[in-house]
Amino acid sequence: MGGAVEHYDYIVVGAGSAGAVLAARLSEDPRTSVLLIEAGRAGHVYAQLPISFGLLIHNAAANWLYESDPEPGTAHRAIPVPRGKLLGGSSAINGLVWVRGQPLDYDTWAQMGARGWSWQDVAPVFDRIEDFETRGAQGRGSGGPLHVSIVPDQNPLYDALFEAAVEAGYRVNPDYNGKDQEGIGKTQASIRRGRRMSVSHCYLKPAIGRSNLRVVTEAAARRVLLEGRRCIGIAYERKGQPAMARARREVILSAGAIATPQLLELSGIGGPQILKAHGIEVAHALPAVGENFRDHINARIVWRVQKARISYNTRARGLGAAGQALKYLATGGGFFSLPSAPLVAFLKTRPELATPDVQMHLIPYAIKDPKRRKLQDFPSMTVACYQLRPQSLGSVHIRSADPDAHPAIRFNFLADSIDQRTMADGFRMMRRIVEARAMDHLRGEEYSPGRHVESDDQILTWIRNNSQTAYHPIGTCRMGQEPSTVVDERLRVHGLERLRIADASVFPTMPSGNTNAPSIMVGEKAADLIRAAA
Ligand SMILES: Cc1cc2nc3c(=O)[nH]c(=O)nc-3n(C[C@H](O)[C@H](O)[C@H](O)COP(=O)(O)OP(=O)(O)OC[C@H]3O[C@@H](n4cnc5c(N)ncnc54)[C@H](O)[C@@H]3O)c2cc1C
Repeated sequence: MGGAVEHYDYIVVGAGSAGAVLAARLSEDPRTSVLLIEAGRAGHVYAQLPISFGLLIHNAAANWLYESDPEPGTAHRAIPVPRGKLLGGSSAINGLVWVRGQPLDYDTWAQMGARGWSWQDVAPVFDRIEDFETRGAQGRGSGGPLHVSIVPDQNPLYDALFEAAVEAGYRVNPDYNGKDQEGIGKTQASIRRGRRMSVSHCYLKPAIGRSNLRVVTEAAARRVLLEGRRCIGIAYERKGQPAMARARREVILSAGAIATPQLLELSGIGGPQILKAHGIEVAHALPAVGENFRDHINARIVWRVQKARISYNTRARGLGAAGQALKYLATGGGFFSLPSAPLVAFLKTRPELATPDVQMHLIPYAIKDPKRRKLQDFPSMTVACYQLRPQSLGSVHIRSADPDAHPAIRFNFLADSIDQRTMADGFRMMRRIVEARAMDHLRGEEYSPGRHVESDDQILTWIRNNSQTAYHPIGTCRMGQEPSTVVDERLRVHGLERLRIADASVFPTMPSGNTNAPSIMVGEKAADLIRAAA
């Protein structure tokens, strides 16, 4: 191993939603030295725009561009698994929809053995992250580092969709992050005056000048270094040069739900069978590494619309795109300022449920070619739906001892019968809303899949053949006490010293919604736990 060995109190691997927050918080204490290493670049020219969601989703300059293994459950398709690869991690390329989740999610975590992670424990952490634009809103934060706004875009389509949802028996909810998640509402977004609020912007930028924080980009961790049961540092590679850094106190892995289990396995920490199959010596047997993987499979329906002006397919094409760009530059508004969906709904597929079990994204356009993010040629709209808390469990494991080889990602989507029923029901609910009378004057025919897809079997087959994910991988280093877990409630890797994990891989179950806010919460809470132990 060449190069000088550097020493820090803490080494954080991965500058994403959790890692950047953690490094920024730890370095608030000037007596503490922190190294943050990030495999990606410092930024991307598009990253501050909300629309970078579309522009970077297939761009290797800022994205790992993983793919799932072809599986029977998804018609043997390799499904794209985008992950941010730059300062800010996935928060710098995501769809900006801001969702805390339901109190039930975190109370479930606590019941599953993650003591200290109940809703009562995590709600104040969400409060301290947020600077919510509606000052004084009950149960919301203000003055925190990350501004959350309500989508300002106006469109007769949105009014009609609200009315249609009410007609279909649902309600309008002005704050799904407040007391009750249920209902349809305008999206809350990590956007401030048209600018993306990534953790790189909100947390790292104010911290980066600190002399006790060193941020190294284009530096990929290769291995966690162990001395017996104690983690002493990491081996990493920067621009082809091997390097080593030692941690006086702790190493914290925040490489995300795909890369963190990969890094553990490459370090000999994981299921012995998997490690041996790839010629890796077992340093610490921990079979739960890479298991308990979940994501949201996302089913979309596209409708033609009768009035061209209500669809961005018309308003953001050709000269329209130039007009939208000018509007964005002048006012920070319009197409280029939108999160991935301007309206969201959290609904119950069955009235007897205590809380919503599906989420819908309502989008005033449709995409023709997802790889090139090309808009559909005709005026149209999309509604997408996923089951909030899927039961089916997949896995993420190395497929080679080569650290540059992408891991094997197996979703195992729709394996569980509850997941199948919920997705089929959610699919019908999308139709029920859009086919309500209030939409008669705007709705055209259902373009995709089309009304011939009707029975449960047809719907599920269509979902298996066509759906993508909602980009919310979690759970591969689950937190708890059971053998199925990797870290304890203080995020310490079971059986090892001075090694923690803080990212979406530790979620015991899927939070009910998009996963950026919960990942940031994990980064904040990790900082509390580490500071309390110092
Ligand atoms: C396209 C897309 C759209 C999304 N839309 C939304 C949305 O609208 N709302 C929402 O709430 N959530 C959304 N998400 C999900 C959300 O952004 C993620 O759940 C969250 O950012 C995960 O945070 P994390 O800290 O676990 O990992 P990440 O933010 O992914 O950070 C991991 C970091 O580790 C780095 N890294 C990996 N391996 C190494 C290594 N070996 N060495 C050094 N660094 C390494 C990565 O480059 C990355 O920067 C979306 C995600 C994507 C990709």
